[in-house]
Amino acid sequence: MGQVIDKTYNGIKVPQGEKITFKDGKPITPNKPIIPFIEGDGTGRDIWKASKRVLDAAVSKAYNGQKEIAWFEVLAGDKAKEATSEYLPEDTIAALKEFGVAIKGPLSTPVGGGIRSLNVTLRQIFDLYCCVRPVRWFKGVPSPVLAPEKLDVVIFRENTEDVYSGIEFPEGSAEVKKLIELLESFGKKIRPDSGIGIKPISIFGSQRLMRRAVEYAIANGRKSVTMVHKGNIQKFTEGAFRDWGYQLADKEFAKETISEEKLWAEMDGKLPAGKILINDRIADSMFQQVLTRPDEYSVLATTNLNGDYLSDACAAQVGGLGIAPGANIGDDCAIFEATHGTAPKYADKDVINPGSVILSGAMMLEYMGWGEATKLIHDSIGKTINQKKVTYDFERLMPGSTKLKTSEFADALIQNL
Ligand code: NAP
Repeated sequence: MGQVIDKTYNGIKVPQGEKITFKDGKPITPNKPIIPFIEGDGTGRDIWKASKRVLDAAVSKAYNGQKEIAWFEVLAGDKAKEATSEYLPEDTIAALKEFGVAIKGPLSTPVGGGIRSLNVTLRQIFDLYCCVRPVRWFKGVPSPVLAPEKLDVVIFRENTEDVYSGIEFPEGSAEVKKLIELLESFGKKIRPDSGIGIKPISIFGSQRLMRRAVEYAIANGRKSVTMVHKGNIQKFTEGAFRDWGYQLADKEFAKETISEEKLWAEMDGKLPAGKILINDRIADSMFQQVLTRPDEYSVLATTNLNGDYLSDACAAQVGGLGIAPGANIGDDCAIFEATHGTAPKYADKDVINPGSVILSGAMMLEYMGWGEATKLIHDSIGKTINQKKVTYDFERLMPGSTKLKTSEFADALIQNL
C-alpha cells in the first residue's frame, strides 16, 4: 500500500505511504497516510511510545487492517539539537509542510537566546490560527467539582492575534516614548513609566476562527456556538470580535444558525429543530458559568488571551492537564499536541500519564475522517478509568485504584478497545 517517496528529512527516510492533501482547508486522507510525529522532550519519550501503540491498535481494530498510519519521525527540541545542532531544523519545517497533519509530544522551551518557544514558532510558521481544545469528563476521573459530567465543550481559541501577537515595548524604550507622544496627540494619556503592548484584532482573524467553530458545530451536531469576549470594556477589539462573529454566522450560515437576539425576537426563545444557537457571553461571566451552568454551553469561540485562560480553567474541572488534548489548525496544516509540558522530573521513568497525547491523537483521527477509531479510543479510556486502572497522577486522588506505569496503561487501553 502507498507510494514510495524517495526523500529524507534530518537524515530520516520517509516511510512508504501517501500524502494527506487539503481542499478548502479540509484534509483528504488516503488509506495509508504519512504522518510526521515529534516525540517530544523529557516525558515525551515514554508518552509517545505508549500513544503510538494505542493509536495503531485503534485504527487497526476500527478498519480491520484496511487503514494504517505510516509514522514518520521528524526532529524538534532536545533530540533535534543533539542530532542537527538546531532545535527546529529546516528539514522538520519542510516535512511538516509537505505532509500537513502531524502530532507532537511536549517540547521544552529552550533557555537562552534564539527561538522563543518552539510551539509558538510552529504556530506562526504554519499560520495555525485555530487552537482547538475539547474538554469533557471521563467517568471516574477525579475532579474538583460536584458534577464534572455536565461540562462538554470544545474551545476554539484564536491563535495569531490579540496581546499575544508579540508587539510589546519595554518601559523607558525609545519606542514607548514615541508611542506615548503619538497617543497624546490623540488626547490619550499614558504614565511615562509604562511598558506598552498592542492588541490587534482583525475582521479576517476573527471571522476565520468563527467559521471553523460554526463548521465544527454543524458537522458534530452541537447545539450552540458562544463567543466569549470582553467587549463591554474593549469595544473595538473584543467587542468587534463579537460583532464580526455574528455577521459571519448571519452571512455564511444563515440556514444552519440563529442568533440569540433573533431567537427571542422572532421565536419566543424556542430554538427551531436543527438550528444552532449563536450567542455571546462576557468572559468574566463565562468563567462563572462554566462552573455554575456548564451544560448550557457547547462550542466556545474566543480571542487568544481569553482562550488561554478558559482552556486551562475548563480542563481543571474535568481532571486537569494530564488528559487534556489540543490541536493547532490552519488551512493546510494541523498539529495535534499535548497541552502539558515535558514534566522533566518524570522523564524515562515510565510513570507519566499519556492521556493528553493519546486524546490528541484521537482528535487527529477524527480530523482525518477516521472517527470510528476516535470513538474506540474514547470508549476505551472511559472503560479503563472506570476499572480504576490509572497512572500515578490519578491514583493519588482515586481511593482503591491500581497504579499503572505508562506502558501498562497503554496495554490496558489496547485490551479495552
Ligand atoms: P509541566 O511539564 O506541564 O509539568 C508540571 C506538572 O504537571 C508536573 O510536574 C506534573 O505534576 C503535572 N503533569 C504534567 N504533565 C503530566 C502528565 N502527562 N501526567 C501527569 N501529570 C502531569 O510544566 P513545567 O514543569 O512548567 O514545564 C516543563 C517544560 O515544559 C518547560 O520547558 C516548559 O516550557 C515546557 N512546556 C511545554 C509545553 C508544550 O510543549 N505544549 C507546554 C507547557 C510547558 P506533579 O508533579 O504534581 O505530578
